[in-house]
Amino acid sequence: MKISEILKNNQVTVSFEVFPPKQWDKIEQTKEVVRKMSKAEPSFMSVTYGAAGTRSGFTTEIANEIKDCGITPLSHLTCLTSTKHKVDEVVNELSENGIENILALRGDIPESFVFPDKQYFRYAYELINEIKEIGDFCIGGACYPEVHPESKNQKEDIERLKFKVECGAEFLTSQMFFDNEKFLDFREKCLAAGINVPIIAGIMPITNANQIKRSIELSNSSVPKKFFRIMERFGDDAKSMKQAGVVYATEQIIDLMANGVNNIHIYTMNKPEVSEPIMRGLSDIINK
Ligand code: FAD
Repeated sequence: MKISEILKNNQVTVSFEVFPPKQWDKIEQTKEVVRKMSKAEPSFMSVTYGAAGTRSGFTTEIANEIKDCGITPLSHLTCLTSTKHKVDEVVNELSENGIENILALRGDIPESFVFPDKQYFRYAYELINEIKEIGDFCIGGACYPEVHPESKNQKEDIERLKFKVECGAEFLTSQMFFDNEKFLDFREKCLAAGINVPIIAGIMPITNANQIKRSIELSNSSVPKKFFRIMERFGDDAKSMKQAGVVYATEQIIDLMANGVNNIHIYTMNKPEVSEPIMRGLSDIINK
């Protein structure tokens, strides 16, 4: 099924993200994670893509497992460090496997990267154009409530986002954020700029103290005082931190929904023991 269909009519959706293993001999473990998570019946499940595309087959394999579990898969695809030929090959492989949804991403710029030639892509919108040439996919894009780190300011970032949507992104998934006000403000600005596609809120449950440092560094997200206090109080105790992280994420989702945000994507970090209690905490809300 196409994700545009799932997102139709502004119904409540909660989807999950998983990542493939780095080595093929761990693929069965990741498939087991998918099988466990699918029991919570997410609206769809996405699977990330390794930056250089060297393990693209891993992403397809996990997307197929998601499909076999009866859940709609969304395959991520990056383009910056892949040739046009490689991108075409992966998109054709997804099509042959009956995968209808692609999150089209640029990928991060590796250190001392030099753009080689015209066979390469510079921005995600170019990848969107390429995918549209190849087949009939539902294509999504990424967005940044707290501004992409390479952008000068939010106005410029949103203008480029609008162009990405005009090129064919039918929905947007946000970078993680911990302060709902940042997302709600961003969503309003997108609407004002004429971006009318669904914007799915990306929620990262923080369940251990080391994870937060890395997540903030990678995502550029601001962290509310309330969250720091939770970290200070429970950060040294793994079990307490996990429970507090699950409750914080659940509360964040409920507050977003109370503000009219109906589409949530959970960065599960491949932990069914985290996604499952969040879904349980939302059960009556989701089933309305
Ligand atoms: P773009 O939309 O191309 O934007 C990148 C920068 O270029 C922005 O600053 C933008 O404002 C600017 N820009 C865009 N268009 C133009 C233009 N026409 N002219 C000038 N500047 C422009 N990475 C992975 O490697 N694998 C993954 O699976 C993965 N999944 C992700 C999922 C989500 C939901 C998110 C939010 C990010 C994910 N990433 C992943 C990280 C992503 O690849 C990086 O954040 C990357 O730096 C930007 O990708 P993008 O698709 O947003 O790029």
